[in-house]
Amino acid sequence: MKLEGIHHITAITADAQRNVDFYAGVLGLRLVKKSVNQDYTSVYHLFYADENGDPGSDITFFEYPGVNRGRPGAGMVHRIVWRLAGSEALDFWESRLADHGSEPHRLPDSVVFDDPEGLTHELRVVEVPDEPLIANHPEIPAELALQGFHAARAYAADPERSRALLEDTLGFAPPVEVGPGGTILSREIRGERRGSFYLYEPPPAAPPLQGAGSVHHIAWAAPPEEIEAWQQRVAAAGARPTPIIDRHYFRSVYFREPSGVLFEIATIGPGFTVDEPPEHLGEKLSLTPKFERLRDQIEPTLTPLRNPRESWAPR
Ligand code: ZN
Repeated sequence: MKLEGIHHITAITADAQRNVDFYAGVLGLRLVKKSVNQDYTSVYHLFYADENGDPGSDITFFEYPGVNRGRPGAGMVHRIVWRLAGSEALDFWESRLADHGSEPHRLPDSVVFDDPEGLTHELRVVEVPDEPLIANHPEIPAELALQGFHAARAYAADPERSRALLEDTLGFAPPVEVGPGGTILSREIRGERRGSFYLYEPPPAAPPLQGAGSVHHIAWAAPPEEIEAWQQRVAAAGARPTPIIDRHYFRSVYFREPSGVLFEIATIGPGFTVDEPPEHLGEKLSLTPKFERLRDQIEPTLTPLRNPRESWAPR
């Protein structure tokens, strides 16, 4: 039983329209699902991914309109690393991000920047055997586009506490020391088809604060038939997982790993085409069967969103 790297990463936004404008309009991801928070249906849950809505490329946001900025600290993912194919993509993104008001920071193999709410991303040139997960965008040539997640970086005060759960229970590789002075620990998690890295580094002094621009949780991908076994394995390790929860697009188990980061294991499939055809993903408000009968009450409470795709010329 192996986890297939990162499934999705969920963060918080205070402004859904600005979020769509940045992730779909600037970064070129596809808005593949426009739904509501299943625990709080008056706020959006937005999902961006590659053209097919594949796990491994899916960043999602809960909207809490007007919520204060968060502050990453111990027990939180604070940087999301995406794959690029080559160094010409670094030039492209450095220039594109600057043109759109970000302040990209160029490193030898990557470009680092914050989204409009302070969530840090890194676009990194990597060589991996995994299939590139790319979305279409008229201003972004496919060979320069984001290719899916590569890694997530988290702050941990005492990363040793997480070792047993990560390595013995979840199947992460032993850590490799990277970064200045070996202060960053990088572990690979690799399945049959995809892999990702999970990194720990020492936290800043200030305590963490959930809010706009902060990561809420990270999900790891599992084959659908293995979710029950994962739930039992995590429970046997004493990590107190939730029961399996049906999220309609996948089934999920949640638990907090010992360094404090909220983990989810989510199934690969049934996926975002379960309630919309592939060519129309994300265009209308999707409600799960439980909430569909409340559509007339839910939809009017949500601010209409402009999707940059609506303005694209027919192809
Ligand atoms: Zn999730």
